[in-house]
Amino acid sequence: MEHKLAELKTRLTEIDDLESAARLLKWDQNTYMPLGGAVARGRQSATLRRLAHERSIDPDLGKLLDELRPYAESVPYDSDEAGLIRVARRRYEEKIKVPPQFTSEFYAHTSAILQVWTEARPANDFGRVRPYLEKTLDLSRQYANYFDYEHVADPLIGRLTQDPGMTVSIVRPLFAELREQLVPMVQAIAAQPSADGTCLRQHFPEDQQIAFGIEAIERFGYDLKRGRQDRAPHPFTIEFSIGDVRITTRVDEENLRSALFSTLHEAGHAMYQQGIKTDFEGTPLAQGTSMGVHESQSRLWENLVGRSRIFWQHFYPRLQAVFPDQLEGVDLETFYRAINKVERSLIRTEADEVTYNLHVMLRFELECQLLEGSLEVRDLPEAWRARMSADLGIAPPDDRDGVLQDIHWYFDHIGGMFQCYTLGNIMSTQFFAMALQAHPEITAEMGAGEFGTLHRWLVENIYQHGSKFTANELLERVTGGPLSIESYMRYLRNKYGELYEL
Ligand code: ZN
Repeated sequence: MEHKLAELKTRLTEIDDLESAARLLKWDQNTYMPLGGAVARGRQSATLRRLAHERSIDPDLGKLLDELRPYAESVPYDSDEAGLIRVARRRYEEKIKVPPQFTSEFYAHTSAILQVWTEARPANDFGRVRPYLEKTLDLSRQYANYFDYEHVADPLIGRLTQDPGMTVSIVRPLFAELREQLVPMVQAIAAQPSADGTCLRQHFPEDQQIAFGIEAIERFGYDLKRGRQDRAPHPFTIEFSIGDVRITTRVDEENLRSALFSTLHEAGHAMYQQGIKTDFEGTPLAQGTSMGVHESQSRLWENLVGRSRIFWQHFYPRLQAVFPDQLEGVDLETFYRAINKVERSLIRTEADEVTYNLHVMLRFELECQLLEGSLEVRDLPEAWRARMSADLGIAPPDDRDGVLQDIHWYFDHIGGMFQCYTLGNIMSTQFFAMALQAHPEITAEMGAGEFGTLHRWLVENIYQHGSKFTANELLERVTGGPLSIESYMRYLRNKYGELYEL
């Protein structure tokens, strides 16, 4: 068995090497590659991904996994060996269920729709992209039909690259409950005087912004000897191994909020990857267990830490020293209120903590309805406006800031693409509450610019496991219960109740 387990690892590492090399090409493409490299780069990436895919559906791999089944059942469920075999089997089974012809048709279609969307969005022309989106919907249903399911969106939500273990029957009622509490909260905040955000809208030179962000995330525990930060048009985190996890950022010199909080966010993703047990290197266990848990970590550092008053008690004087001309006359309280300003806006990525989930849940619900067939693509723009009006009391004047807003539906499936953001917000508070319960001193440490206890707790309880446990298993292990909005609503009510005198 030891021999077979070693063979499994060798095969999995070979796949991982090809996938990591493809990611490196992608990183380069999004940072330093000259425009002229685009065509060849597309081909090179496709070749690497094809080779990785061929190896991951190799029937010999399936045979090996079958032979290892009795062994996996004989060792404890939470052992690394059982975890590795379990996750490798899930990946294998998911991949062999989808015929290669479907995958190539889907990729060809997504590059076509992405191209059309790139032009249709600035032109505010939903009609142009509509037939493509109808085809995406057909293909998404077809994808789901390769699997057994209770709800047609389940196989899309539960994909191993999304939120395995989550289903419509878990997510939908939870989101309904959250929406019911958030809509009146947003209305109550909107009735209050608005916070003053002008201190963030000054000129903040790029180099100083970058330097301050790096200072903060190094204090968090992001290890620059095993990572680096570069500039890219859209911020992202990408890993090539546990020892090389990189982040990118984009700086807006007229808006302090943008690069600062996206840096804290990406560092949260990256610290999760850096914290994985090194024994898992080169295997499918060496990645975050789901998009939702990944988002829980980025949002924990960005919001629960980075938008807290206690964090800024330490860092605000530092920030004022970096930007004396801009911030000398702005006191901590004004700054704190500015970074936590709640505003009903049209754009998801610019939304604050309170309104953000309403944007996400709207998209999740529309995805489910499209897949169920209770909503037609042609009625999507109107459904979007109606739901925006109901939830946020505002509606986009055009489709550019409505149904054409996010890239997600225009480069991947419809379904499974949005729930992770709100799941992440919810889980972030569930995990954070447990960390504080175990170590009440974390709050005082944050006020002193120290994050070692929090970081160690996260490594111990979440990061080190990589994808050994699913999100639901992790929640059960760490919090002793399932996904629940209780701690999240408590967090929002405490924080925004005080800020807006609710
Ligand atoms: Zn993220």
